[in-house]
Amino acid sequence: MTDYRGTLQLKRGREKPVENRHPWIFSGAVEAVHGDPEPGDLVAVVDSRDRWLATAYYNARSQIRARILSWEADDIVDEAWWYARLQAAIGRRLALQLEPDTTAYRLVNAEADFLPGLVVDRYADYLVLQALTMGIERRKAMLASALSELTGAAGIVERSDVDVREKEGLPATRGLLAGEQPPPSVEIREHGLRFLVNLMEGHKTGLYLDQRENRALLGQPRFVSGKELLNVFAYTGGFAVLAAAAGAGPITNIDSSVAVLEQAERNMAQNGFDRPGDEYLAGDAFKVLRHYRDTGRQFDVIILDPPKFAHSQRDVQPACRGYKDLNWLAFRLLRPGGLLATFSCSGLVDADLFQKVVFGAAVDAGRDAQILFRLGQAPDHPILLTFPESAYLKGLLLRVV
Ligand code: SAH
Repeated sequence: MTDYRGTLQLKRGREKPVENRHPWIFSGAVEAVHGDPEPGDLVAVVDSRDRWLATAYYNARSQIRARILSWEADDIVDEAWWYARLQAAIGRRLALQLEPDTTAYRLVNAEADFLPGLVVDRYADYLVLQALTMGIERRKAMLASALSELTGAAGIVERSDVDVREKEGLPATRGLLAGEQPPPSVEIREHGLRFLVNLMEGHKTGLYLDQRENRALLGQPRFVSGKELLNVFAYTGGFAVLAAAAGAGPITNIDSSVAVLEQAERNMAQNGFDRPGDEYLAGDAFKVLRHYRDTGRQFDVIILDPPKFAHSQRDVQPACRGYKDLNWLAFRLLRPGGLLATFSCSGLVDADLFQKVVFGAAVDAGRDAQILFRLGQAPDHPILLTFPESAYLKGLLLRVV
């Protein structure tokens, strides 16, 4: 038997999402909690007539009161269970056959891998772990030791320096969890190209791994060979390196951070791309694009990969205005026949809404555009069908005609 520390009883008629295998139990669905469980403890989830539904971990401090670990009555959730779940998630990554061309990818995608609150990314010999909930926080030492055993990683660092931890009553934290501290620059490969990653200071866990397949799509000669590119929100040059490898013409990279642009330049050099025509411009994307519009500068291919604009429901409208503004500017800067790769990683702005916003931008800019590809997150960031919240990255590859 699982060692439950309490029972969470649902209100009458609130068992449907649990039966449909949605992993979150919100405070509003909870009738009572028996046994006084501590934050992170395992609880049995039962319906209003005491029928067993699932095993979950609990946190009274979070609006998401419990996250379901298992819907199987026979599952005993102990250390061996966690080990098996990690092993299964890692096995699914091996099945994607990313290695050896790609050595940085997500091993565990939280709820979508049946391990709520846990993110684990691999960067060559090192792993980066994010504990997003109390349930994972309390088990991270055990999880790190299991991961060491399963992957043979030289070291595991924690990058739990994310805002969502506040909602669980947890402070931001980062540090070494197991093995050795990685060097300041870890070299990884993506589609055979080389990147230096700073696992302690980089955004997220180091790279935006979710964009990998979109970088590869854009990095095809048929789209970029000989073309003039504008890479907006360039970060450490992911799109630029792939495009350069495909024979792109001059690339203008824009980012608000000088440090990441220096890293982008290093990553180009790391692949032997000595290209005097490329530019690295530190500044606010909105301002730079407006300046280009005013001065009549034009491009053949524009990539718009902004940071998350909508963090809560309240932000959705202003976020959409931001996306519209950016896309409107991009449409104005494209030469006829040009391509626009436009993205949003705001989970609260779904693919339909995003497409409407881009449509509005095109109409206002007076441009006709065709969708060549609808884009999403890479398959090592799978979307669980029963958990639509796991879909957050969407994009369109458009041709302006
Ligand atoms: N395309 C990148 C990831 C982009 S992440 C890749 O594939 O790796 C978003 C980037 O936008 C970050 O590097 C951040 O520094 C930058 N950024 C955030 N706000 C900005 C702004 N207003 N203007 C320009 N860059 C901005």
